[in-house]
Amino acid sequence: MAQEEKPTEEKKEVKKKIEKTGKKPHKNKPASKKYKHYKVEGDEVKRDKYCPRCGPGTFLAKHKARVYCGKCHYTEFMKEEAK
Ligand SMILES: [Zn+2]
Repeated sequence: MAQEEKPTEEKKEVKKKIEKTGKKPHKNKPASKKYKHYKVEGDEVKRDKYCPRCGPGTFLAKHKARVYCGKCHYTEFMKEEAK
């Protein structure tokens, strides 16, 4: 069965070439910004304001005078004139 060895070797070479061309240089992804909404102080975990409709875990994006939920489009306006 020495004839069967040759074609398998050729197949391996073709596979290696395909792997080389298909690979892209690996880049490290930046960590999710979701973790920035959590802060650990001592034994307590402090969370940012979350969406009242989506529940804890869905945080509100902060804008100039409002907070906004990107999931359900909930918007809450803040009163900044209380000085
Ligand atoms: Zn929401």
